[in-house]
Amino acid sequence: MALSDLDRKMVLEAIEEYDQLGRDAFLERYGYREARDYFVVHNGRRYDSKAIAGVAHRGVSGRPLRPSEFSGGAATVGRILGHLGFLVTRQRDASPAEVFLEKIRNLDTAVSNGRSKRHQPLTLLWALGRAARREKRLAPWDVSHTEISALIREFGLDGDRPNPEYPVLKLTHFELWTLPEHREPPRPSGSALLGWMRRNQPISGLREWVYDLVAENEAVRCQAIAYLLSTYFQDKDQNALLTRVGLGDVDNEPPPLPQHVRTPDRRPTTVRRIIRDNALSRLIKTLHDYTCQVCGTRLLLPQGKYAEGAHIRPLGSPHDGHDVAGNLLCLCPNDHVLFDQGAIIIKNDLTVIDRLTGAPRGTLRIIAGHDIDPQYLAYHRDMYRGAASLSPVL
Ligand SMILES: [Zn+2]
Repeated sequence: MALSDLDRKMVLEAIEEYDQLGRDAFLERYGYREARDYFVVHNGRRYDSKAIAGVAHRGVSGRPLRPSEFSGGAATVGRILGHLGFLVTRQRDASPAEVFLEKIRNLDTAVSNGRSKRHQPLTLLWALGRAARREKRLAPWDVSHTEISALIREFGLDGDRPNPEYPVLKLTHFELWTLPEHREPPRPSGSALLGWMRRNQPISGLREWVYDLVAENEAVRCQAIAYLLSTYFQDKDQNALLTRVGLGDVDNEPPPLPQHVRTPDRRPTTVRRIIRDNALSRLIKTLHDYTCQVCGTRLLLPQGKYAEGAHIRPLGSPHDGHDVAGNLLCLCPNDHVLFDQGAIIIKNDLTVIDRLTGAPRGTLRIIAGHDIDPQYLAYHRDMYRGAASLSPVL
């Protein structure tokens, strides 16, 4: 009668029957009451988790379980359905996206010398890159181990040991990750787990509901990435990190203008004006849904939405700004030019000032997950302090 013998197919069959009958008839047929706490989420719909597990049990023993035959709490049904890759949620109203982002904001990362360790964030970014490219969700251990180790060496804190065993197990117990062939993986502490991982060589990856969510929902994926970058990698070249985990090649930019607008003898200026920029800039623009943070304009081109990523403190000599999310704005082309030329500046309280008149133009639009670092705004203001005529930056 072990619920732990359930497999994913049995659960999906129960869900299918639930869909066919409808909730009331399904619960009535098998004698279950409406769930109050635990729901399993599939394709955006919620199902009473105990009833689903009990009916799915038909695949194990040939008959559904009655509700009195087992407990439907988190420790039993929640854990088993979770292991099979399903999201089991407590609140009726939390969507998978909310559950996922809540977990991302609450990673239990160790702290060393006042700084958070980056093993879990790097492991997640690696997996988000795979999902964005629709690569296989599960990877063999030698692949995960090699690739995550390299990321830890390159983007971890000084002295971090490149041991992906810990983040993988930590994320597994945090219910974002799964080792599908191992129902009872070791806790992520002590050194015995290193031997366990070496012996078992587990295939692993994001849980199925997490993978489906971040592969299909670009906005949620970008929010998670932006949060990880701004929380854990403020001192790193974030564009290099995105490119490194394969999040730089995901093409959500408008393609080049079609041939018929080109002229044979010279390059049309409209094409040159389209700024095709880097992975970090695309991430920020996607987060803002290509809406200008100064004026709220969102341009629609025949090829799709268009905005520009503007560095607040310019990159390269002599300014040497950093390629980090806190140094980027999502702007329309007009406001990009005005900003780069110092015709508008932004105060630390995010008031946008027209420097030609001295009058405020409004407040910079901000969104969760993308915080502007005031040190860069101050640098930009200083660049133009007292300057009457301004040299082009473009
Ligand atoms: Zn604008």
